[in-house]
Amino acid sequence: MDNEMKEPNGEQTHSASDEQIPNIEGKQFPDGADDAPSPENRPSNEYDVVCKKEESDSLLTKAIHKLGGKKRAAIAATAIVAVVFCLPTLFPQLFCTHKLWTNASCTSPRTCKSCGKTEGEPLGHEWEEATCTVPKTCQRCGKTDGKPLGHQPGSWTTEVDYADATSKEIRECEKCGEVVDTRNEKEITSFLGDGSFSISPEGFIERLNEEFSDIPNCSNMKASYELDDSGTGLELQIKNGSTLAGIGGFFSDSSSQLLFSYLGSVNCFKNIVMYFENSDYAAATALATIQAIDPTLSFSDAKQVGAACVDEPIVKNGITYAIVASNGEYWLSARIE
Ligand SMILES: [Zn+2]
Ligand SMILES: [Zn+2]
Ligand SMILES: [Zn+2]
Repeated sequence: MDNEMKEPNGEQTHSASDEQIPNIEGKQFPDGADDAPSPENRPSNEYDVVCKKEESDSLLTKAIHKLGGKKRAAIAATAIVAVVFCLPTLFPQLFCTHKLWTNASCTSPRTCKSCGKTEGEPLGHEWEEATCTVPKTCQRCGKTDGKPLGHQPGSWTTEVDYADATSKEIRECEKCGEVVDTRNEKEITSFLGDGSFSISPEGFIERLNEEFSDIPNCSNMKASYELDDSGTGLELQIKNGSTLAGIGGFFSDSSSQLLFSYLGSVNCFKNIVMYFENSDYAAATALATIQAIDPTLSFSDAKQVGAACVDEPIVKNGITYAIVASNGEYWLSARIE
């Protein structure tokens, strides 16, 4: 702008730089070429070269920056994408809807199955105290703590299995009642006590039922007990299915029927008496009774004894057996004289 304004003042006012410009222009672009300067002309105008250089430098730099910029942008974009995709992995709890939970346990709080977020407190163990054989144990998870307490054996007692006619000495734990020791297991060869039977009425009934189940065609016969009509006596009942087949009682002497309260007592009776109105029931019960009261007798032994004692008492192994038949009534007794 300045040059244009100064032009009307004449050539003298031209500055050195103004004079040089046409020269350069004339020399530099003789055939009107705009942007193809010949290398030999460059030193003649340092300013222009510097400008051009700066210009091309800045273009290059821009291009480089541009390139660099693109690269950086690409890297940044990649990084952003990576971060976005990694976020759920890096911060799962921020992106989880916590739909599936694992219930709280003794030692862990309620926990999201997907991200592991927890809620609340662990439940804590629910301890059940130790017993003789089991240590203190959590009812929920089964964790144990310490040792079982161990049994505390009491004194020796005799236990009798009447159905099998066996006996043994046992020791029970005083705390839990479990049998912890057994000794002197043996078969019982006789229920003949000192002047009375060494078996309780209840034990005898148990044995009688065992024998009924072994006698052919007698599997429906069953012995049981109940209070008699007086409300104090112990009545023995024999049934065939639901039919009352016979009744009986236990006597402590020839005339005193045993009280109901003696049901489980040993050495309390010396005579069993039964009454039937049917000979088959009487015969079957006689065979079962003979085997029940004397564990050494077999079925055929019992048949011999039963047949022999009809109308005439006989003694076998210290026990007197008698069957009395009269006018459709049948009486059976097994007693100690
Ligand atoms: Zn979750
Ligand atoms: Zn637990
Ligand atoms: Zn115990």
